Amino acid sequence: MTTSLDQFGRSIEYLRISVTDRCNFRCVYCMPLEGLDWLPKGDILSYEEITEVVTQLAPLGLKRLRITGGEPTIRPQLEKLIAMLKAIPGVEDIALSTNGVKLPVMAASLAAAGLDRVNISADSLRPDRIKAIARRDLGFDPVGALRAAAAAGLDPVKYNVVVMRGINDDEIGDFARLTLDHAVHVRFIELMPVGEMAGLTWEHVVPSDEVLSRASEAIGALEPSSGPVMGNGPAKYYRAAGAPGTIGVITPMSHTYCGTCNRVRLTADGRLRTCLYGDHEVNLRDPLRSGERLEPLFIQALANKPKEHNLLQMQVGGLKALSQVGG
Ligand code: SAM
Ligand code: SF4
Repeated sequence: MTTSLDQFGRSIEYLRISVTDRCNFRCVYCMPLEGLDWLPKGDILSYEEITEVVTQLAPLGLKRLRITGGEPTIRPQLEKLIAMLKAIPGVEDIALSTNGVKLPVMAASLAAAGLDRVNISADSLRPDRIKAIARRDLGFDPVGALRAAAAAGLDPVKYNVVVMRGINDDEIGDFARLTLDHAVHVRFIELMPVGEMAGLTWEHVVPSDEVLSRASEAIGALEPSSGPVMGNGPAKYYRAAGAPGTIGVITPMSHTYCGTCNRVRLTADGRLRTCLYGDHEVNLRDPLRSGERLEPLFIQALANKPKEHNLLQMQVGGLKALSQVGG
């Protein structure tokens, strides 16, 4: 199979596919409570169209997929899409990013359809706090979601924890302790200042070095860890001696990892985004709907993929919320 390189020689093999811009949560760091304009239904790619995009681009080296949103599990019959994508030659691995609310009822059918792995957003282990951060009370139980995913055979199961000073940073130790008893991979994510963010500012960002030292205060020395669990992304992983789970940090703010970026994104309305931030995107939907081939557009988009983001300079383009591009 071909490998596609961008203009800086990075091999692009990972596609994040947003299947909806809507969500059943309104996380403080992600979505405003109101004021987002939802995409009209006709603008959103159908499952058949998403499958056609991947069918055309997989031969160019896109072999790992992540389904994201908004909240992907609220789009009806997500299992159908997973099965369609899994059947495409060259697709090796399908992951899901979810807030986990629907995992207890959906994990088994998603796994049966061909889902390999799952990341669950879990910013707190305390019901009141979950409600305050998500601004919805849907009875989300992070440990229940983890158990459902593991019982369905999804592997690895990861938690994504956005750390916010004064809001949930006192739970770093509790999350770290979970890795001593569960094969869960807890990834602490630095808060990114994108969009409206309900009053969150740079002062709420907790640098990953501090997170690691606080995790280590809770569970002892952390050794760098590697292995198949590590996936496609920019996280660095650590493990306490003998622990079944690991701790990872994702550091968009304190240490950028653009030099090894291997990914592009497909928005729910069919735009190929070559960087999470800024306005580097190409409309694939209209050419697809008019029967054009997508390969030349993909190659051209990679030729323009920027070297790095300018998040520290707050250059986020027209992005109002990460939910619009799938994080
Ligand atoms: N709804 C799914 C979920 O919550 O996992 C998938 C979409 S969500 C936009 C993807 C990821 O982006 C989540 O892990 C979320 O925590 C992260 N995210 C959203 N806004 C963020 C921000 N301002 N800073 C850091 N991470 C953010
Ligand atoms: Fe929804 Fe995920 Fe954004 Fe939370 S982080 S509002 S669950 S899309």
